[in-house]
Formats: sequence, C-alpha cells, structure tokens
Amino acid sequence: RFNTLEAQPKDPIFALVDLYQKDENPNKINISVGAYRDENGNPYVLPVVKKAKQILLNDPNANHEYNPMTGVDSFCKNAAKVILGKDSPALIEDRCATIQTVAGTGALKIACEFLKKTKNTPIYISNPTWANHKAIIEFSGLEWKEYSYWCQEKRNLNIDALLEDMMNAPDNSTFLLHACAHNPTGTDPTKEEWKKICEVMKKKNHFPFFDCAYQGFASGSLENDAWAIRYFLEQGFEAIVCQSFSKNMGLYSERAGYIHVIVEPSSNASEIARNIRSNLSSITRSILSNAPNFAVRIVDIILSDPQLYNEWIEQMNIMSGRIQKMRKLTRDKLVELKTPGTWDHIQKQIGMFSFTGLTVKQVECLIEKFSIYMTKNGRMSVAGLTEKNVDYFCKSVDWVVRN
Ligand code: PMP
Repeated sequence: RFNTLEAQPKDPIFALVDLYQKDENPNKINISVGAYRDENGNPYVLPVVKKAKQILLNDPNANHEYNPMTGVDSFCKNAAKVILGKDSPALIEDRCATIQTVAGTGALKIACEFLKKTKNTPIYISNPTWANHKAIIEFSGLEWKEYSYWCQEKRNLNIDALLEDMMNAPDNSTFLLHACAHNPTGTDPTKEEWKKICEVMKKKNHFPFFDCAYQGFASGSLENDAWAIRYFLEQGFEAIVCQSFSKNMGLYSERAGYIHVIVEPSSNASEIARNIRSNLSSITRSILSNAPNFAVRIVDIILSDPQLYNEWIEQMNIMSGRIQKMRKLTRDKLVELKTPGTWDHIQKQIGMFSFTGLTVKQVECLIEKFSIYMTKNGRMSVAGLTEKNVDYFCKSVDWVVRN
C-alpha cells in the first residue's frame, strides 16, 4: 500500500544538529539551530522559568483537564498585551481575536488555514526567509510568491526592490512580514523603511501577516521589537500576528504561542473578532483539538506577576546582550586577522542570526574540515559562539575565505 513512498529530505537544520552530535572533534561548534546557548555553550533554562515551574508544581488547583479550543481566555489576553501593548486600542476596543497555538509554527499553520478559508490568494514571503514558511504555506494548500528583501552585494535590505515588488503585486495581496530579527538575514527595515512599507501596503490594500518569533531578541526591548506591528495597527490596518515564546522564554520544546487576528475599528468590530475566534477555534479542533497547556501556564505565571515579569526582561537582556557581545568579538577578531572581505555586518545585524555572506563551498569546508555546523546559505546562529570558541571559529573562517 505504501511501497511507492519515497523518503523525504531531512530538515536541513535538524540534519546538521544530527551530524554535529555524531562528530567527535572536541572543537566542534553548532551554529545551525536558532536556540540560545549560555557562555559555556550550554542550553539556558531561564531562572524565572524555573521559579514559575515551582509555583505551578505547588498550585493545589492545577489539574490536567481539557482546555477550551481557544486556550484559556486570561492567558490569551495577557499574551496579546505583550505583543500589542497593554494600552493597545485593539485590545481596549475588544477587536482582537486570540487563540493559543502550538508555538510560532502552530500559529503560522492556523493562520494559513484561516487565510485559505477566507482569502485563498498567494502569500508573499521575503527572499530569503525561514525555510519552513514555504512548507507551512504549501501544506495548507496555498501558493507562495517571493518579494525581494536582500542585497547580497551590500549585505543589506534592498528596500527599493521590496517596495517595487509590493507595488507590482495584485491589490489586496497577503504579505508575510518578519516583525523583528529577520530570519535568516538578521536585518530589519528601519522605522523610516517600515513607514514606507506601510504606505505602499496601504495604497495597494495589502494585508500584513506578521510572524514574530524573536520579540526581545532584536533590541532587548519587547516594545521596540513590536514597533512595526503596533505602527501598522495605528495606521488602521487589519492584521494577523503569530507570536512565539520559544526563544524569548527559552521554551523551545514546550510549544507556547498564540495567533492574534486584529480587525479594523467599526461599530461591530467586537462581533467580527468573536466570529474570527470561533473560526480559529474550529480550525484548531480539526488539527489538534487543543494546544498543550504546560508551557503557556509557565508563560502566564511570569506575565501575571510584576516581579517575575521584570526578572524575565532582565534575563532576556542577558541573552540578547551576550549575543551582541559575540557579534562584536567575531567582527573584531576577523578584522584583526585581516580576513579578506568586510565583516561589519556581523556586528550590525540583529537578533539571533547573522547572514555572514559565506558561500555554500566555504560553509561545506567549515563543516567538513573544521566541524563548524551552519546552514548552507551562510546563516549562523550567533548564540552558538562563546568566548571560548570564537577564536577557533574566526581562524577557521579566515582559512576558508583564503583557500
Ligand atoms: N518563525 C520564524 C521566522 C522562526 O525562525 C521560527 C523558529 N525558528 C518560528 C517562526 C517558529 O518557532 P516555534 O515554532 O519554535 O515557536
């Protein structure tokens, strides 16, 4: 019955992690997967997450009953405040439909199913983007098209080409936008550029579909990193926002996330939002019934307690601060080694990743000769570098660039 099936290619990132784990080179470095590592290269469980787990453990009322398909209402509201702001008019006016999802990926999946049901037009994604965007869109039966984003020569955003592609897309198209810390380029539009994007999208009546997986990782501030989303909403846009707590709370495997659909102000906006929520919830029912509860309980304990919330912000700053430090060390070391090329972009880029500009051949050599595992497109997860391995990394890069 299934004998015609062929094995599918492994996910390129998880395949690299596999190879890394099997590699016996004591100097090996894993800079493939977007997961934070501490100064010793170890996974980091945020101390505030440990505290929240303890609180949950001691809660005599905690049980394992089914949740509603939407997730817990109060959790949804608290999460929405993190991304839209606690004074968000959309929240005050009750025109944001939020449901709990299986982290950011789950939110994107529900979003695509919802878009298929309501719009069924191609989704425009940036070139390049996180590889899974294409897969999620395709598996939902939708088509994707690309819009320009990156200028390889200048190692920067190609804003003119991006705006032109938005102008040339049919009116009322959906654009998937990385809210901050663009993966894989580590390069976001400036506020001025966001304003231009917003202007063109308004002119063309395009629909913004935000993916926000790195709030807090770009600038260290939740507010700054949600600036683009909040600006679009201020300009009167309707939007979808996918929110993940995988990175900013270090809850990767626990799958905490939400989808928010914000509707424009009108006399029946709340009713529209309620109907949207009911649709999101029926989509969820058919895919997974309801999202897991453990991680969002942890998230909510932290979000609801001002003291724990502040500790979270501090610990997020420790993570984003260490990444910034490693960016500077890497750039300085490559300059010191006089490695051919320019390396300022490594320090200038933001979030978890750097789009190094290394070629496929150079990356293959880093993997084979030096046991340094990164994706073929030259993206490195800066969090995988430490003060102990950065010298080895830079010397290896120097070697592959020269040879
Ligand atoms: N969007 C982007 C751009 C990402 O990089 C990621 C994680 N790598 C996600 C969404 C989803 O993350 P998760 O499902 O772990 O929340």
